[in-house]
Amino acid sequence: MTTMLTKPNDPQPQEWLASDLSLGNVASYKPFTFVDGEGVRCSLYVSGCKFACPGCYNKVAQNFRYGSPYTQALEDQIIADLAQPYVQGLTLLGGEPFLNTQVCLQLCRRVRAEFGHTKDIWSWTGYKWDELLVESQDKLDLLDLLDILVDGRFLEAEKDLTLQFRGSANQRIIDVPASLEAGEVKIWANLKR
Ligand code: SF4
Repeated sequence: MTTMLTKPNDPQPQEWLASDLSLGNVASYKPFTFVDGEGVRCSLYVSGCKFACPGCYNKVAQNFRYGSPYTQALEDQIIADLAQPYVQGLTLLGGEPFLNTQVCLQLCRRVRAEFGHTKDIWSWTGYKWDELLVESQDKLDLLDLLDILVDGRFLEAEKDLTLQFRGSANQRIIDVPASLEAGEVKIWANLKR
């Protein structure tokens, strides 16, 4: 007997909008982590995602109501933590950062204002690169602020726990500025596997 694998949801372009969906909630904040990208990082997990990937690593955070509101005090704490010289940058995860752009844009703009490009910004997303390019302006604005995007749904059929920073082989670690400039996906130069 074969087991049917269910698939994540596939949105139409601009079908899902943060302005309709996000409640501005945060599932958790983890300062000084080593697993959410290169170097020591501060990770913000926003609440709410509609991809509903079977096997999602953070199912509770698919709910937009989960967690607690993003606050100015939390933002100030993140900025203070990022200021530590051994911290390489900020990571956005979820949930879906691109369906919580109110929170993510505010934070990323502050990071750029305070640190310029001395701290990098990574984000995970369930959207594929090409899907994001035809998405709503808030998503494009967030993409513009990133250094690295890990793209695509988590697909159980392509699950591979040996990959760097991603759970399935379809997902890519994308150099965002290089890709925007080239007009095609450019993979992160430090990729090992
Ligand atoms: S895109 Fe990420 S957070 Fe959303 S359901 Fe899939 S694995 Fe979970």
